[in-house]
Amino acid sequence: MQEKMLINGELIAGEGEALPVIDPATGAEIGRIAEASGAQVDAAAAAAEEAFESWSQTTPAERSALLLQLADAIEANQEELAGLESQDCGKPWPSARDDEMPLTIDVFRFLAGAARTMSGSAAGEYVEGHTSMIRRDPVGPVAAIAPWNYPLMMASWKLAAPLAAGCTLVLKPSEVTPLSTLRAAEIMNEILPKGVVNVLHGRGPSIGDRIINHPSMEGITVTGSPATGMAAMRAASNQIRHVHLELGGKAPVIVFDDADIDAVVETIRGGSYFNAGQDCAQPCRIMASDAIYERLVAETASAVESIKTGAPHDDGVEMGPIISSTQRDRVAGFVDRARSGAEIAAGGAGEDRPGFFYRPPVVANVDNDAEIACSEVFGPVVTISRFSDAEDALKWANASRYGLASSVWTRDVGRAMRMCARLRYGFTWVNTHGVGTPEMPWAAMKGSGTGCDMSVYSLDAYTSVRHVMLAHG
Ligand code: NAD
Repeated sequence: MQEKMLINGELIAGEGEALPVIDPATGAEIGRIAEASGAQVDAAAAAAEEAFESWSQTTPAERSALLLQLADAIEANQEELAGLESQDCGKPWPSARDDEMPLTIDVFRFLAGAARTMSGSAAGEYVEGHTSMIRRDPVGPVAAIAPWNYPLMMASWKLAAPLAAGCTLVLKPSEVTPLSTLRAAEIMNEILPKGVVNVLHGRGPSIGDRIINHPSMEGITVTGSPATGMAAMRAASNQIRHVHLELGGKAPVIVFDDADIDAVVETIRGGSYFNAGQDCAQPCRIMASDAIYERLVAETASAVESIKTGAPHDDGVEMGPIISSTQRDRVAGFVDRARSGAEIAAGGAGEDRPGFFYRPPVVANVDNDAEIACSEVFGPVVTISRFSDAEDALKWANASRYGLASSVWTRDVGRAMRMCARLRYGFTWVNTHGVGTPEMPWAAMKGSGTGCDMSVYSLDAYTSVRHVMLAHG
């Protein structure tokens, strides 16, 4: 287990408190890793600031070549990295390798290409005797904060775009799941110049807070909860900086009566409980048209009952434990509070075994303004409510504070396009849900954040548009 942090090209043990690493499938402590001290945060920030001077002057082709090397090195070590990930998060082992590693690697490959595609308007004479041109330059060192649900994949999204843009970083993975990112830091250190990426371990309110408030940081990028996004906004208000936020979600899934119900049920069974539902785009808030409501509830409940839960290496396991006992209690709390006003059509109980397991529930007959329909549970829970009129479904969906993922299910293309045009969500799938690709933005609106990860647009958060004017008489 690689337990050291990366500061200025050196792997260094943390000088702060040793934090436990817990296996969610057993509840047992698998190790303790010391978090950074304040002085180590300062050293990492200073290293990122110094390295920025040279990294920002590299050519896109040079950065691209290193990003491709990074992708190759992660690919060469993917079995080990996926093993760490499944142990740290309790994820089914084949899923950690086959579902997460390809996108983790491909994001580096895509952004290696994107680094070379930045475009701007033509240079020209807008004032007589003066030539103007547009530059897009890296904003400076970036504080990058990652969550625990897909630790390395989220870290790769936080890393690849700023590196492609010419920024340096201080990255902090979640203190709950540091293993894969600390190992990746060791891999990155063999490829990148010193100080370009610095990786620290530590808790959010202390170490994370110190990173995002560090005067050397010109950009902040967070994938995490709205509370952490607000902390980043506050940090940016103390010293003006660029902020990019990918926060929580509560994805509405609007199912019309002409939808392919088998496909909806398959998507819920496979997608809503994937990663134990700990997914910001999780299809979790199902709104079913009256005509198909009963069928959808019955078929979803029966499909979800058959989900096989278990530890990462159990035979045929489809869903692992929830990340921690705190999070399991939080999830169970939402379900228990919903019991009086809704119907638990499947699951919704703990399991009699060690670890943080929970039988995945389907909560039906849910009011559209109920707590469980409106708040992000971030666990293996799906609610189903009904609608009679498309306008109502749209109104309820858009009333949410969240604005990340959404989907519309109908065979009527015109209806699908009209819904897409009016849903205030960063992305809307039609007749599918959860399919991502590095070419397309993972985009946030409203309380879900600002800007996007992946795609060429992700470079916007890490580059400033500049004007250079030359007088020539
Ligand atoms: P979290 O906000 O608790 O933690 C995320 C990271 O922020 C961790 O590294 C944590 O240490 C750090 N942090 C916490 N407080 C901080 C502070 N004051 N200053 C600086 N850093 C701080 O979130 P989580 O529980 O790890 O992840 C779950 C949340 O992440 C959910 O809301 C989920 O929807 C969201 N998420 C969003 C996306 C997306 O792409 N939009 C992807 C994955 C997860």
